[in-house]
Amino acid sequence: MARIVQKFGGTSVADIERIRNAACRVKQEVDAGNEVAVVVSAMAGATNQLVEWTRQVNRLHDAREYDVVVAAGEQVTAGLMALSLQVLGVNARSWLGWQIPLRTDGVHGKARIEAVDTAAIELGFAEGQVAVVAGFQGIGPCGRITTLGRGGSDTSAVALAAALKAERCDIFTDVDGVYTTDPRIVAKAQKLSRITYEEMLEMASQGARVLQTRSVEMAMNHRVRLQVLSSFTDAPGTLVVDEDEIVEKRIVSGIAYSRDEAKITVQRVSDRPGVAAAIFGPLADNAINVDMIVQNVSEDGKTDLTFTVGRSDLDRAVAVLESCRPVVGFYALKPDSNVVKISVIGVGMRSHAGVAKQMFQTLADKGINIQVISTSEIKVSVLIAAEYTELALRALHTAYGLDSPG
Ligand code: ADP
Ligand code: ASP
Ligand code: MG
Repeated sequence: MARIVQKFGGTSVADIERIRNAACRVKQEVDAGNEVAVVVSAMAGATNQLVEWTRQVNRLHDAREYDVVVAAGEQVTAGLMALSLQVLGVNARSWLGWQIPLRTDGVHGKARIEAVDTAAIELGFAEGQVAVVAGFQGIGPCGRITTLGRGGSDTSAVALAAALKAERCDIFTDVDGVYTTDPRIVAKAQKLSRITYEEMLEMASQGARVLQTRSVEMAMNHRVRLQVLSSFTDAPGTLVVDEDEIVEKRIVSGIAYSRDEAKITVQRVSDRPGVAAAIFGPLADNAINVDMIVQNVSEDGKTDLTFTVGRSDLDRAVAVLESCRPVVGFYALKPDSNVVKISVIGVGMRSHAGVAKQMFQTLADKGINIQVISTSEIKVSVLIAAEYTELALRALHTAYGLDSPG
């Protein structure tokens, strides 16, 4: 007997038929004698609709009320999944975040999980009951509903798996594993049978939606055995593992892209100590993450500072910067959301030079201009105009030899 967590993403619970299909997969594990916790996302498109409604009411909304609205999708699927299991003769009940409770910090809209109390769920296990948990949601320090950021049900699943000391955490989605790049954009993308936690973390944080970044971080810290697989086929999925479990190492294992980027140029700020702190301090205080940053050399004591934020934070970032204009003193703000970030990732980069050079040359050969660059030990990222996304991904995929099985 094993204890396992199964998570079903939005497309896997997109309608009643698919929920039934997912329930059958849960039943198989129950019939095999396992204790099962199921984490569900909202039906595909449901969360987008909820977000859109909050925007229509107020673009700069109260994040606490935003969470009340957008957490609603998972409540529906948790109930429907529990009902579907009951129809199959499986003892099951639904759990909302506050009922577990799954405690988070108070950063509404992108809360972090602090503790998961599994006592009640484990009592249910002892009676042969499946726990169906609404993903993406928790309860904050003030007793209000919080959500974990888009794609957050993955993190609910991994947190639950860690707290329950589960043997496995299976993430069922609409692709049958993690690929060298998004298979919906590059037809030649190859499925990886294994990927390291570290590479998966970079892939996720650089935009490969297939797993939410925090879920990978948590899986890495708690050594959760994470598997990504399809809810529609029985093909073997991708295992996320330690580096020493991978024999064949490529220099570049994957390429990620993120359209969730926006660039802001703060024009003609003074080139003096304290200016960066005056700009980035208030953004951080408003929980706006800044990613890539470039500052040009000044000629007349004035300089342009360019950086990127999440696209959904753009309006708020501009509002925050405008409010500190008297302190910072800049000429103008230039927001631009017509950008995409492309990143090449691989642990092999630690020991191989020339990966960045190849990236820049490949993009140059296609006439694609690079706007901002950033690097880490196992990643090189560039910001380019959004219209070149597909072209850049395909060209880089070929250039790094990823078009054929490795
Ligand atoms: P779910 O609703 O199941 O959570 P998501 O839409 O969040 O599913 O994530 C799955 C999607 O991630 C796939 O449909 C695919 O388009 C996208 N994706 C992006 N990069 C990759 C990658 N490297 N490997 C697999 N899928 C990827
Ligand atoms: N429903 C949420 C979203 O669409 C959470 C998730 O699916 O993981 O972002
Ligand atoms: Mg997802």
